[in-house]
Amino acid sequence: MKKIIITGALGQIGTELVLKLREKYGNENVLATDIREPEADSVINNGPFEILDVTDKDKLFELVQTFKADTLMHMAALLSATAEKNPLFAWNLNMGGLVNALEVAREFDLQFFTPSSIGAFGPNTPKDMTPQVTIQRPTSMYGVNKVAGELLCDYYYTKFNVDTRSMRFPGLISYVKEPGGGTTDYAVEIYFKAIREGRYDSYIAKDTFMDMMFMDDAIDAIIQLMEADGKQLINRNAYNVTAMSVDPELVKASIQKVLPEFELGYDVDPERQAIADSWPNSIDATCAKEEWGFNPKYDLDSMTKLMLKAIKEKDNIATK
Ligand code: NAD
Repeated sequence: MKKIIITGALGQIGTELVLKLREKYGNENVLATDIREPEADSVINNGPFEILDVTDKDKLFELVQTFKADTLMHMAALLSATAEKNPLFAWNLNMGGLVNALEVAREFDLQFFTPSSIGAFGPNTPKDMTPQVTIQRPTSMYGVNKVAGELLCDYYYTKFNVDTRSMRFPGLISYVKEPGGGTTDYAVEIYFKAIREGRYDSYIAKDTFMDMMFMDDAIDAIIQLMEADGKQLINRNAYNVTAMSVDPELVKASIQKVLPEFELGYDVDPERQAIADSWPNSIDATCAKEEWGFNPKYDLDSMTKLMLKAIKEKDNIATK
């Protein structure tokens, strides 16, 4: 029987992950936690919830013990653009929270998942079809945290035999919960603005290619990796995963296939553009495909159709 505890569960990934895991393992077997209370109409109010600040190690240990968890999915973190505004705070939350989560996993022999990111690469990394194993010298605080996190997860696996697993997510596109301050958020905002205003001004410049993936594929990938035979996992912390490499113009063209009147302008934000410029154009997910069968279903056009339809429905419900 799986008993899963999730930190940062009210975030963009956590919200949909909780829903999918509850569908699979039963509502009462998935404990959602976050530093803040869920809103009254939150979709995750269909099961147990506890307030947890991941820097509070005692509370984390207490919750894992009382819930009798066998799996910990650690999502609480400060994302790239927000981390850059307050780097020391980001270090303390991202690294302090991760160490606490790994310690509780070691103590209670939990299976462990935490995401890394394409932010774990830097300007010296090969930019196109970035290999699984390559140069990782990121220049953002977020990237520094992600590389350190990958190494720390490897350390807990080799030193303490904790079953740590991870993947380097690209920008994740979703409509259920708004993104939490990443560099790739433009690729979510553009769909909302397309439906609501018919135009969008991108803070990321034309011709800036970054990897993206639809949230359903990300959630399926997490479950698939956690269920994979551990003996097959050579690169367990952390796998390159991606479904597409796009720039704002490609997203525009895809939206215009559904909404021909859509307009895209540019109002580039130098800080987020600098982070984007330091990341790969595209990454190579071959190891994830070979070692545990990663197989995303959505390409840009199928994702665009679904995003636009879902946002329209969401807005119709809100105005009823
Ligand atoms: P998010 O910002 O949407 O959510 C993070 C959640 O953590 C929020 O609900 C927040 O309230 C909570 N939180 C903040 N401080 C906390 C604390 N001290 N204790 C407990 N909870 C706290 O982030 P997300 O997009 O869901 O990302 C989850 C993980 O996935 C992060 O590690 C992130 O780096 C990684 N990731 C996300 C993306 C993406 O596109 N969303 C891409 C690559 C990697």
